[in-house]
Amino acid sequence: MGILEVKNVGKRFGGLQALGDVNLSVAENTVHAIIGPNGAGKSTLLNVLVGKLIPDTGSVMFDGQSVLGRKPHEINQMGISRVFQTPEIFSDLTVLENVMIPCFAKRDGAYRMHAFETVEDEVDIVQKAEQMLLDVNMQDKLRMTASSLSRGDKRRLEMAMCLVQEPRLLLLDEPTAGMARADTNNTIDLLKEIKDSRDITMAIIEHDMHVVFSLAERITVLAQGTPLVEDTPENIKGHPKVQEAYLGQ
Ligand code: ADP
Ligand code: MG
Repeated sequence: MGILEVKNVGKRFGGLQALGDVNLSVAENTVHAIIGPNGAGKSTLLNVLVGKLIPDTGSVMFDGQSVLGRKPHEINQMGISRVFQTPEIFSDLTVLENVMIPCFAKRDGAYRMHAFETVEDEVDIVQKAEQMLLDVNMQDKLRMTASSLSRGDKRRLEMAMCLVQEPRLLLLDEPTAGMARADTNNTIDLLKEIKDSRDITMAIIEHDMHVVFSLAERITVLAQGTPLVEDTPENIKGHPKVQEAYLGQ
């Protein structure tokens, strides 16, 4: 049994079957990549996992509990965090404040600022956020306004905002989309550090094969809403079906 078990998930948008019959098992403490051509249904699947979309059929179990029917913030509190395709940060707040907000969200299920319950609580949350920023090497940028960060640092900040909630499953939707090679490599290094330093499972949607083959231990290839193959990176590389559906396009 994986920490995440997706069974027979289907999702239709009007006349379009975005997800056909998706079965996916993600083993605990692994990095599992989901790849596939544009329109394959990758983001739709992710939206189902975080409660933004309700599938027409099937089940999604996280650590033995059903995810379906729960609100996004409830799923987040279960231990699933998501990194978006474009960083979702609070531009006008400082880096430190950005990391404090998810601490409240984890506790209260709502995004708010300065919701300290006691002085100890405040010290706790500030320390937790500072430690998190140290972990992602942003300790010298605590007081900077988030909007002034480079694209790579915005991604790093968003990662910190997810990780400070201590998720057991981190979902990443094209974390290096639109990045220059140097920022992409920094992100790969950051994800490797994260993986090696804590108990965490990652499901990553990614177009860039360099990123996929640098990180993934398991790969599922999605095509037209249905998993085509699931295997190790070594086997996926030479797989004729994959070449045809994805790499060769
Ligand atoms: P991917 O992330 O693999 O590129 P998506 O999951 O975004 O693919 O989309 C799968 C298919 O579903 C595409 O054909 C897309 O146009 C369609 N689609 C996605 N979201 C919606 C929506 N909210 N309404 C209608 N069609 C959608
Ligand atoms: Mg997508």
